[in-house]
Amino acid sequence: MPKHKKKDERSAREPVVTNTVVSGSRPTGDLHLGHLHGALRNWCKFQDAYSSYFFVADWHALTTEYADPSGIQESTQSMVLDWLAVGLDPERSVIFRQSAVSEHAELHLILSMIVPVPLLERVPTYKEQQQQLSGKDLSTYGFLGYPLLQAADILVYKGDRVPVGEDQLPHVELTRAVARKFNNLYGEVFPEPSGEIVRAAKVPGTDGRKMSKSYGNTVNLRDDPETVHNKLARMVTDPARKRLADAGDPALCPAFRLHEIYCTEEEKAELTEACKSASIGCLDCKKVMIKHVLEDLDPIRERRTALEASPGLIDEVLDAGAKKARVAAAETMAEVRKRVGVK
Ligand code: SF4
Repeated sequence: MPKHKKKDERSAREPVVTNTVVSGSRPTGDLHLGHLHGALRNWCKFQDAYSSYFFVADWHALTTEYADPSGIQESTQSMVLDWLAVGLDPERSVIFRQSAVSEHAELHLILSMIVPVPLLERVPTYKEQQQQLSGKDLSTYGFLGYPLLQAADILVYKGDRVPVGEDQLPHVELTRAVARKFNNLYGEVFPEPSGEIVRAAKVPGTDGRKMSKSYGNTVNLRDDPETVHNKLARMVTDPARKRLADAGDPALCPAFRLHEIYCTEEEKAELTEACKSASIGCLDCKKVMIKHVLEDLDPIRERRTALEASPGLIDEVLDAGAKKARVAAAETMAEVRKRVGVK
């Protein structure tokens, strides 16, 4: 057993538990219903239950946008405004820019010493995203390493709860593997994040594919009510319902995925029956859901407008958050440096 392990025999037997949630999002500009139901609503719940860190992943944005990073600043402002409008509270969460806390990069560097390259190459999203974003040269060192940067983002706060959708599970697994390897080499420092797996509602876009800015099928949180109504009124439905007299099946209807999120049990049962018996038109059916969507988005839009009246607010929130984040991250890094034996 290496010398340093003997020193840490006691701590090596004790798993680290911190009840800390860490999650970030690339600054992509306007947020949409997919973000709201996929992440933000859960983040808002977590901030009461755990010590919570939510960050703008601007370094992650650079891994794919390095050739044209001009949109990152503006997208950061708009995204954080949406976060606050939805209910993230800087008093209860630490909200900050990743690039304002250099400890993320330092931990990434140290972890990169112990992580075999094939482990990163095997992360499913590595190949998938390279194919999806084939117009960009993603054969870079930074792009290969971005799941490791994610691991550093989490571990630098000793995050043990990571809210992710199922597609992100391999990244949590990687984080666990990295934490385990570090702990085995240098003594117990990091928790192995259990993954606060969020079975987030999958929100379809107006064309039936996953809601995504790159598909141009989003309903944005800042869309005005008329735009929301028009987008959803045009949303694709069960293709079997070409005419009013054609019976449909809500199970095959992308629009009904939104009914499932928004409508009451009674409404869903009634509309299912009406769809199957062709006794309702698709627009009337959608109107029931649209009403709920508008009710959901109204207060968010109002809060956004109120927040927009305070210029400089977002920078203030992010700067204050970075200050708090740095304190926690510096504490972890002092421990990490000591264990690894560097200054
Ligand atoms: S009636 Fe409703 S559930 Fe049926 S296909 Fe039309 S929108 Fe979808």
